[in-house]
Amino acid sequence: MSAPPTVQARPRATIDLAALVGNYRIILDRLAGGAVAAMVKADGYGLGAIPVADALWAAGCRRFFVARLDEGIALRAALPEAEINVLDGVVPGTGPELAANDLVPIINSIAQLDEWRTAVAGSARSTAAGLHFDSGMGRLGIPADETDWLADHPDALGGIEIRHVMSHLASADVPGSPQSAVQLERFLAIRDRFPAGAASLANSAGVFLGPAYHFDLVRPGISLYGGAPFPGSGRPNPMQSVLTVEAPIIQVRTAAAGETIGYGATHRVTSPARIATVPVGYADGFLRSSSNVGLAAVAGRPVPIVGRVSMDLITLDVTELDDGLAQPGAIVELIGPNCPIDEVAGRAGSIANELLTILGRRLERRYVGRDRPRPD
Ligand SMILES: *Cc1c(COP(=O)(O)O)cnc(C)c1O
Repeated sequence: MSAPPTVQARPRATIDLAALVGNYRIILDRLAGGAVAAMVKADGYGLGAIPVADALWAAGCRRFFVARLDEGIALRAALPEAEINVLDGVVPGTGPELAANDLVPIINSIAQLDEWRTAVAGSARSTAAGLHFDSGMGRLGIPADETDWLADHPDALGGIEIRHVMSHLASADVPGSPQSAVQLERFLAIRDRFPAGAASLANSAGVFLGPAYHFDLVRPGISLYGGAPFPGSGRPNPMQSVLTVEAPIIQVRTAAAGETIGYGATHRVTSPARIATVPVGYADGFLRSSSNVGLAAVAGRPVPIVGRVSMDLITLDVTELDDGLAQPGAIVELIGPNCPIDEVAGRAGSIANELLTILGRRLERRYVGRDRPRPD
């Protein structure tokens, strides 16, 4: 018997923090002097808010956004000096806790504004807040009628340090979408009425729409984590792959013509085939909708997923590979440089953001590329 071909025994997720920092710099390089705030909501898009934010802080990033109060509190413990913005804003009852943790709420309504003024009135804490105006997303943000009211009643902002004036693009990832231009016009008009603080409009895709969208601060998320700014558009992805998911083959079997593979017998072998079974399934965050449409890679060569993705396993047709490559212990890449996350997601009818944030906790996690000591 030959020696085992590999030492990797477990399915694992490798997170390349050097690639993450490289992506931060790619974005920074596109700006004419503005700043980059890192979106680390949803546990850093599933990759670990603390290690991600820590690596970005070491690279010079000083501003971060999370969605929830609790995400902000956890990040505050790791980065005592950082500016940490909370997109949910002042959810009723959370003002004191936001203030106590030196978090910057992104105000989404007059009611939230009132709540914040009450929370910080007479306190020695920072009064800083961002103002999020809705320019067309129709989700969060100060609506048009409240924007008019606020412009007419500037006293309502008294006692508050306005740190950001921001809005959020709904269709930036669709190149040429007329909605982006409409939102840009509306945001320019909003900015005229609220000139204090840093202006911020662009998410990842917005950064790549050009300088008109950059203002003082951009807020990329998915691009930092390697996702394409315009997925599915055919445009090349300028970002580096950050996440690699790999697992060893645990069994290779020969299937005769007519045999079926997996639950529901959804794949029928038409001529003799070699089927490799890999210990990753939907319990690891690998979408079941990849069944019969997904691709993996062995030694850089694409291999199709055949049959259903089950809870713990997937099956690959490795007939086209040399026998020496498709052996138990050989490493299969499921997401990574050879299996770009946007393509894996797209084949499953999803987007990179969803794939990242459902990354399974059962996968062994390994952080690489964090070799520089943290400057304090
Ligand atoms: C999530 C989010 C972003 C980042 O979006 P990406 O498309 O991941 O770059 C920016 N701004 C707001 C308000 C968000 O909610």
